[in-house]
Amino acid sequence: MSKVKYYYDSESLSYKKIEKRKRNTFKFASVFILASALFGLFFLFLTGNYIESPKEKALKRELENMKFQYEILNKKMNEAEAVLANVADRDNNIYRVYFEANPIPEEQRRAGFGGINRYKNLEGFDNSKLIIESNKRIDILQKQIVVQSKSLDEIAILAEEKEELLAAIPAIQPVSNEDLTRMASGYGMRSDPFTKVRKMHWGMDFTAPRGTPIYASGDGVVVRADSGSSGYGKHIRINHGFGYTSLYAHLYKYNVRKNQKVKRGDLIGFVGSTGRSEAPHLHYEIFKDGNRINPINFYYGSLTAEEFSKLLESASLENQSLD
Ligand SMILES: [Zn+2]
Repeated sequence: MSKVKYYYDSESLSYKKIEKRKRNTFKFASVFILASALFGLFFLFLTGNYIESPKEKALKRELENMKFQYEILNKKMNEAEAVLANVADRDNNIYRVYFEANPIPEEQRRAGFGGINRYKNLEGFDNSKLIIESNKRIDILQKQIVVQSKSLDEIAILAEEKEELLAAIPAIQPVSNEDLTRMASGYGMRSDPFTKVRKMHWGMDFTAPRGTPIYASGDGVVVRADSGSSGYGKHIRINHGFGYTSLYAHLYKYNVRKNQKVKRGDLIGFVGSTGRSEAPHLHYEIFKDGNRINPINFYYGSLTAEEFSKLLESASLENQSLD
């Protein structure tokens, strides 16, 4: 119970009780409660923001560690990107050039993913930027690896084809150098041995004694071994695929038959002078896609640089062909 207070009333000359004014009490109570509430809120705010609970401390440490791990991941991605960039560089500038494939444009190698926002569920967090950027980098890396892998598959196929092409293409001299008397005449304008008229000589003449072995200049299939073509006498045609055919004319004897498969260097026949020929020699032609081309560029498989330059020199002399 609170004390009862009195006051002296000078009019009635007596002490009178002081009546507590209810309104004041109520006001005071309200202010007190409000102040307490405010203080409480302020305290909550203070502890919430500046004073960490052990759980919060642990979470914060975990978060820091996570950020640190992301940094390490990003460093590893730097390395992976550098290695892949080097592989892509070699791919574009060596492999694809060597195998005559177009380089893959940088935009295609580094293309991200278009359309829908793949990273939407990662948005709206404090670390969203870090996480989204890292995800993007990994996605691009993955895509680059797929592009690179496809390119290498393509190169592997091209390499296989190239191997076949390299084996097929006419690439050796059809008569051994030691058997040659001389390289009589090359591809170009030559005087005809019979009419002495200047005309196109579509092949190369290798002068050698009758019976000198003739070798297939590349892998292929014998498509003709007969004397049915006017002028060529007994002759052989080998289809090498890839648009290449080689022709060997004025033979003395065959060593292969039509439809027979041959390898480069196989003995296919012997030098003679059948058909329109002045003396024993091998008349040799190469066709590419049906057109006769200069065989001089197809001896890299068997000649040294010196031998080749000698051949080049004698082949370019405008003399009389043996036809
Ligand atoms: Zn000729």
